[in-house]
Amino acid sequence: MQIDENVSSRKSRPKSGRLAAVIQWFDSDYSDGNEAQGDSKNKADWVRCVPFIVLHVGCLGIFYVGWSWFAVGAAAALYFIRMFAVTGFYHRYFSHRTFKTSRWAQFLFALWGATAAQRGALWWASHHRHHHRHSDQEEDLHSPGRSGFWWSHVGWIVCSKNFRTDYARIKDFAKFPELVFLNRFDSLIPALLAGGVFGIGCLLERYAPGLGTSGPQLLVWGFFVSTAILFNFTGSINSLAHIMGKRRFETGDDSRNSLLLALATMGEGWHNNHHHYMHSTRQGFYWWEIDLTYYALKFFERLGLIWNLRPVPAEIYEQARRSSDQGTALGQSPTAVPVLRKKPSMSSERSQ
Ligand SMILES: [Zn+2]
Ligand SMILES: [Zn+2]
Repeated sequence: MQIDENVSSRKSRPKSGRLAAVIQWFDSDYSDGNEAQGDSKNKADWVRCVPFIVLHVGCLGIFYVGWSWFAVGAAAALYFIRMFAVTGFYHRYFSHRTFKTSRWAQFLFALWGATAAQRGALWWASHHRHHHRHSDQEEDLHSPGRSGFWWSHVGWIVCSKNFRTDYARIKDFAKFPELVFLNRFDSLIPALLAGGVFGIGCLLERYAPGLGTSGPQLLVWGFFVSTAILFNFTGSINSLAHIMGKRRFETGDDSRNSLLLALATMGEGWHNNHHHYMHSTRQGFYWWEIDLTYYALKFFERLGLIWNLRPVPAEIYEQARRSSDQGTALGQSPTAVPVLRKKPSMSSERSQ
């Protein structure tokens, strides 16, 4: 079977843990044969996280390269272009299959999403499916109610047990070798984007000096700043969207709806809607629940790139109507912060 072949083809020569972590910067499926360490509880792997740390530290480069309207505009444009790919493709397609598309478009969508530097589509979607299966339960990888805000926002990402892709959880897409390739070499596309942005900056400095930008400046704003903000707003759906906002549906978890988060994340802020019914393409269930990703996907549908967008069923609207008729505590609930139940301890040392 395809998945087993992929697993068995991985090199498994013994290496020290740190060297394996460095190799995994480039080949995220690399195994050093010490799989047991991946099962260790909530252990941060800082060597493995160096690219992630560099991404954030690189933002300090603004103090060296200054700014220009062009560079800031590029950062904003790259933010929204890639946020759309994260929500429209990584989330609504690869995680939940809320519409259909061709194999070619599917590959391009995974490629587009990879520019966001949030790992490959298969890693992203497989962990997200796990979140829906165990939302705010003991097994949930990033529940702010159970594990604290910072854990749900970023802690789980730097934890060694969450680095590997569980291909068995995403068999429907792991059968496509081109998707496995993008997932395995997940730093390739972000590196190409960073190089491309730097190169364009160099060309503009030479041929359009009136824009006031340069290679280093465009790299810092267009890649580091834009990507770091993109990561943190994506992470806010795992953290803030389970803390901040109102609840329309009793979902059995802490998910909430927030206009502010929906605007920042192009529609992902309607998280209580989404947890109640994850199969629809739209997450803002009404016209006043602004969902920019959905509007863009409708445009893609008109272009014939995607089809069979799944609607919100009438029975879900009926449940929403009953909820608002009751004027229940659900609809009126304040932005309560759930009790923090248990905070995982995190070791800074990688097990050898
Ligand atoms: Zn959630
Ligand atoms: Zn989801």
